[in-house]
Amino acid sequence: IANLILYCRAGFENECAAEIADVAAALGVPGYCKAKPSAGYVLYVPHDPVHAADLRNIGVDQLVFARQVVLGVEFLNQLPVTDRLQAVLPAIQRLGREFGDLRLETADTNEAKELSVFCRKFAAPLRQALQKGGVAVGTAGTPNLHLFFLSSTAVHLGWSIPDRASPWLMGIPRLKFPTGAPSRSTLKLEEAFLTFLSERERADKLKPGMSAVDLGAAPGGWTWQLVKRGLRVAAVDNGPMAEALMASGLVEHCRIDGFRYRPAQPVDWLVCDIVEQPSRIAALMGRWLAEGQCRNAIFNLKLPMKRRYEEVRRCGEIIEAAVAGGPLAGRVRFKQLYHDREEVTGYVGA
Ligand code: SAM
Repeated sequence: IANLILYCRAGFENECAAEIADVAAALGVPGYCKAKPSAGYVLYVPHDPVHAADLRNIGVDQLVFARQVVLGVEFLNQLPVTDRLQAVLPAIQRLGREFGDLRLETADTNEAKELSVFCRKFAAPLRQALQKGGVAVGTAGTPNLHLFFLSSTAVHLGWSIPDRASPWLMGIPRLKFPTGAPSRSTLKLEEAFLTFLSERERADKLKPGMSAVDLGAAPGGWTWQLVKRGLRVAAVDNGPMAEALMASGLVEHCRIDGFRYRPAQPVDWLVCDIVEQPSRIAALMGRWLAEGQCRNAIFNLKLPMKRRYEEVRRCGEIIEAAVAGGPLAGRVRFKQLYHDREEVTGYVGA
């Protein structure tokens, strides 16, 4: 393993780099980051190759700003344009003979959009060449093979461990905007459910008849996700809610300040998309959770322009301090979702 390749939202390379440097150092793999502004990815290079194998222990779930973690093995530069396979195939054969999935990827930037067309075209001939060359793709339980293209002639070759990596190409879930949802933010909550909860947890924790509070609910994209799953929702917002959503009969619209609202009884879910200072939101979430007014919480933190990584850590500490000693201690997680922009999403649940 030569390095760790981390895919992130373009513009968040510094946050991604600061975070991986902390996590890897804590794991006993000191190193340095290579990150270009707006590149959409970061390389973490261990100082000592002997310890590089420990990078395998880093899971994408424990990182906020990385969408995907790939163990980089080789960088192939100046691929011959007339016969790229001739250069790529032997390098893959050196890496292994059995892989779970084949992922041809690029950074998530505007510049790389054209490159993804190239990747799609290259996939079929590569698959054929792999088959002929004795490399099996599709073996369950084996690492995924990643070709992370920087251009059509430069590629990082690496692998990921299914348990530790994002299941999605480029670490991005392709969600379709659901017809009938009142706002695009609906996809944030859908992605949050997919990211923070396993399939089993989604079935157990989001059942018809359960109760939820949505703070900053209007026009109702998040409420829509809850109603779709049969939950009863108190939608707290002075703004108007979409009429079709109200017609479901499952929504009670409460026109009051989300910082003052209190439920009559504890609820299964608290979700919050109020645009406010992150530390104020964190304190609010901490209070609900510590007082047992909700069992699970999903919330957005709109990040300031600077020191965004530090701000997320600080908010984590605020919530951890509130739930310390209780069943939710140590269970605060954050992720910058694909559908998040200058923000991250938090989840706390038993
Ligand atoms: N999640 C919503 C959706 O999917 O449609 C979008 C929420 S929007 C980003 C933020 C909302 O928070 C606005 O509708 C705004 O009126 C509301 N808001 C701002 N401050 C609030 C407060 N103190 N209490 C309740 N709602 C608030």
